[in-house]
Amino acid sequence: MSEFVGITTENVIEDLRRADVRPSTARIHVLRYLLTKRNHPTIDCIYQALKPTLPGLSRTSVYNTIGMLSRAGLVRPLSLEGSEMRYDAFTEDHGHFKCESCGEIYDIDVTIPGDAVKDLDGFTVTRRDLFLWGTCPKCTGKKQS
Ligand SMILES: [Zn+2]
Ligand SMILES: [Zn+2]
Repeated sequence: MSEFVGITTENVIEDLRRADVRPSTARIHVLRYLLTKRNHPTIDCIYQALKPTLPGLSRTSVYNTIGMLSRAGLVRPLSLEGSEMRYDAFTEDHGHFKCESCGEIYDIDVTIPGDAVKDLDGFTVTRRDLFLWGTCPKCTGKKQS
């Protein structure tokens, strides 16, 4: 998975301010991690990745920070299956592909056809998701060799 290295701490602070969120150290680090990695991590994955840089960090504070960022619309939670929650800071309409072999979740560029759904009179759509499952090119290559 490629890293989006162009995202600076200043960009992240700017995003937080625009969403009316006070840019605390934990919020900056969590959002920057999500924006640069784009790997749809779990809470634990974020915690493990940031612990070396932020020794005072706890799982609970990552959980609370994610909750705050989600309410501010900066992060969207993805529930793919079971109870495992993943988080995404790329909030524009896009779909996801989960590789059943390596577990990696890829972003897919797709316009989700909410308008094509019939019988939505009186319902207001606030979130759209499209999930696909299968085998990613990395894992397909492994099987062939
Ligand atoms: Zn894979
Ligand atoms: Zn995504």
